[in-house]
Amino acid sequence: MARIVAIANQKGGVGKSTTAVSLGAALAELGYRILVVDLDPQGNASTGMGIRHEARGVTVYDVVLSEAPVESAIIPTSVKYLDAVPSTIDLAGAEIELVSQFSRETRLKKALAPVGEGRYDFIFLDCPPSLGLLTINALTAAEELVVPIQCEYYALEGLGQLLRNVNLVQQNINPELRLTGIVMTMFDPRTKLSEQVVQEVRRFFGEVVYDVVIPRTVRLSEAPGFGQPITVYDPRSKGAECYRELAQEVAARPRPESPMPVFDDLPSVVVQPPSTGPAGSPDDELLPPDEPIAAGLPDAEPETEPDAQLDVEPDVEPDGADASAPQVRTASDPLPAPPAPAFGEPDRQSGEPSEVEWTEATAEPRVRPPREVVQPGRLPERRVVVIGENAEIDIEAAREPLVQVPQGARPSVAHASDIGETLQDDGEAPKRRWRLFRKGGQ
Ligand code: ADP
Ligand code: MG
Repeated sequence: MARIVAIANQKGGVGKSTTAVSLGAALAELGYRILVVDLDPQGNASTGMGIRHEARGVTVYDVVLSEAPVESAIIPTSVKYLDAVPSTIDLAGAEIELVSQFSRETRLKKALAPVGEGRYDFIFLDCPPSLGLLTINALTAAEELVVPIQCEYYALEGLGQLLRNVNLVQQNINPELRLTGIVMTMFDPRTKLSEQVVQEVRRFFGEVVYDVVIPRTVRLSEAPGFGQPITVYDPRSKGAECYRELAQEVAARPRPESPMPVFDDLPSVVVQPPSTGPAGSPDDELLPPDEPIAAGLPDAEPETEPDAQLDVEPDVEPDGADASAPQVRTASDPLPAPPAPAFGEPDRQSGEPSEVEWTEATAEPRVRPPREVVQPGRLPERRVVVIGENAEIDIEAAREPLVQVPQGARPSVAHASDIGETLQDDGEAPKRRWRLFRKGGQ
């Protein structure tokens, strides 16, 4: 029997696709027969395995929605023992189309049955950055779950929600589902933050966290652009070595016997970000694309008291009644006008945090070149950048919809944390939510 492993985290950009491809390739190198099923309409895993758009004839969409035989969608990659079921942007509609379908949660499980025995040792399901029906299909089809977590301040954001969904799936559809492992990604050894995040996540999840930690490397970020897994693109690189170690751990670790413990009190912030960041000058915000990641990296990490690292911010529910909770806005509401508070500081007039939660229901996915934002005292990271008046939110790596900021909005620079998608009970389109952090404007 193949071990069917969902790779999920509803946050975008945490390394799901990179892990699906790199881990798959590293296991294939060891001689395991691997299938990677791309369940993300953005098709990053497909691209990362070098499957060109023209080659994506029968896709996971046809398999899940039109009951096309999964065998007809399988494409061998240039790596021996590594096969793929690709996705295309069509899959974006699947989330909605599935709502009204019969046995909508179990379609992928049924579809994979013919290849579940004999043909593969591992089937990895690369989930989209949402908790919609595609992810539910993956959690239903899989017996194991691997969660990549990025070494950043908001590492655990949304994780409580993911694990609650896992519990629901366990109780209702798939009692076999187990959390097999957590893999820490994009670790930057030059910063104290990365180390603190790993420590805190280990403190919460203990042995579930794999020993190996995946570093943030230029090679890993380049590999998908060449359509090659890291083990092929740069076999001797640190990233390749670490994914090989992960492969060893994954192969050696059996599926846990006991169902997952319930984690009710996960904080979204494992390490508190600096409460008062120095005001940035315009040119310290953007790292030119051709500059190495190390450029602009601060030497000094913000000091955090060890005891203050937990429970610093309750996991605020967006619809909570708490007056101090971020406001929920819809796309048609303009962002609040300035005076904008200093980054991370409460607005002096309203007393509200300089953080608004933004719900965006209808946005066209568009592709944009990645941008890196560097702020003093913080890691350079994938950011959503809001620039100037009537600006766009430019979501790095472009797997997220591009959103127009309404006229009149004047945030100077912000970053946004992708909280994920919420499926509407009434069958409406899922809503994607970001938490936006406004930065002080003039
Ligand atoms: P997800 O599938 O969770 O959205 P990806 O795996 O696509 O995330 O990663 C997001 C971006 O970060 C991609 O551009 C990818 O190439 C890059 N990336 C992922 N892991 C690393 C890493 N360890 N080091 C550097 N870049 C990385
Ligand atoms: Mg992905």
